[in-house]
Parts: sequence; C-alpha cells; structure tokens
Amino acid sequence: MQVIFDQHYNTLGAELLCPNCDGRFLHHEGVQVFEREEDDDTGLHLMVKNGVFTKDSDLSDNPSPRRHGLFIEFCCENCDARPVLSVIQHKGSTYIDMDVT
Ligand SMILES: [Zn+2]
Repeated sequence: MQVIFDQHYNTLGAELLCPNCDGRFLHHEGVQVFEREEDDDTGLHLMVKNGVFTKDSDLSDNPSPRRHGLFIEFCCENCDARPVLSVIQHKGSTYIDMDVT
C-alpha cells in the first residue's frame, strides 16, 4: 500500500497519514526489528510494545526476504485501522511500505 505523507517540517520531517482514512493522528503501538547477515535463517528479532521488550531469533515475520527489516505498528485516532509501516532492505536498496490490519 502506498505510504502517504502530508507536509514536511524541517524540525520533524514529513507527517505520516493513515492509509485508511488519510487522518493525521497515528499513535505508535509497537516496534519490531529484524537483523541478520545476508540470507541467514536466524538472526536477531526485537519487539518493544506496551513497556515490554522481547528478544528472540525468530525471523519468520521479517518483511525482508534476505536482510534487515523493521515494523512500526500504529493505531489511528480517526478510524479503527491498525496500520503497520515496514522498512525493508533488499539487494542493497531500502523499501518503505504500509499495510493495514
Ligand atoms: Zn485512520
């Protein structure tokens, strides 16, 4: 899904909008980080959510098929969408995507 931004502010960056309703009040719910050497089956998986962090080597949800990836989970104040921003490293390039669950 296309990532939608509003105005860019020099001190903060571009404002991320909800992909479901175009609303601007997205709250961070959690973060997941996946790290591994190229094509390794195992690596590091960190999750931070609700004041708790967990660490394991499960890369099954890694959005990158070969390298690092991360998710930032949101909830939207304007609708009931739960958007997830993903940052994916693949073949030397970095991709940003947004899904709604
Ligand atoms: Zn929304």
